[in-house]
Amino acid sequence: MVNVILLGPPGAGKGTQAKRLVDERGMVQLSTGDMLREARTSGTAMGRRVAEVMDRGELVTDDIVIGLIAEKLAQGAKGGFIFDGFPRTLPQADALGDLLEKMDQGLDAVIEMQVDDAALVARVSGRYTCGQCGEVYHDQTRPTKVDGVCDACGSHDLRRRADDNADALRTRLMEYYKKTSPLIGYYYAKGQLAPVDGLAEIDAVGAAIAKILDKS
Ligand code: ADP
Ligand code: ADP
Ligand code: ZN
Repeated sequence: MVNVILLGPPGAGKGTQAKRLVDERGMVQLSTGDMLREARTSGTAMGRRVAEVMDRGELVTDDIVIGLIAEKLAQGAKGGFIFDGFPRTLPQADALGDLLEKMDQGLDAVIEMQVDDAALVARVSGRYTCGQCGEVYHDQTRPTKVDGVCDACGSHDLRRRADDNADALRTRLMEYYKKTSPLIGYYYAKGQLAPVDGLAEIDAVGAAIAKILDKS
């Protein structure tokens, strides 16, 4: 069993690669972004607050996301967990370490997906996802085979995200550099960091990640 973090700026390809790992290895994807998007549809006061913060491109508070992750970890995963978009701050990283330790588990690898800012703008502005199964598509690099229909589940529920616009992306990138990029040093110091070239094609990135996981 392997537990892995996918670390990288918005649009780096974390969700895309997480989905592959689920399909190929039976791992469990824990995406705090997906969990928060679910929470915001709940219509509660908390959901509305979260929606505002996300639409601006800022990070939601550590307590909320740590709570969401703790709940999911308690359910266990035979093939291991993929942390997609979590942790995003040093307190979140510490909390994850504590939670895993309590379960007598650890992290096997932290994959740093390296993509430059210019590519991120193109990635995020062309992104759309399936509202039913979460499959990730792109207008240019990965369109659905049939227009308007999800390849994976046949649903017609294809959506674009409210925060995938130029303004929110600028804020998201700043948040990444200020609050998340220190995790690169944090995991490097622990000997867990494994960089991959996120600019390569989706299959090539998947192969690079597979190689890292097979070694760990
Ligand atoms: P992306 O795929 O662009 O990296 P996500 O779907 O992971 O974005 O996250 C979308 C938004 O959800 C973030 O901009 C932030 O507002 C919120 N979010 C997701 N994960 C976290 C987290 N671990 N800590 C704080 N906020 C988070
Ligand atoms: P993240 O979860 O890190 O925000 P996504 O997996 O949602 O990133 O990918 C962002 C966009 O870029 C999506 O539209 C996806 O289809 C596309 N994409 C992902 N990986 C690649 C890649 N290696 N090459 C080209 N496009 C990609
Ligand atoms: Zn689908």
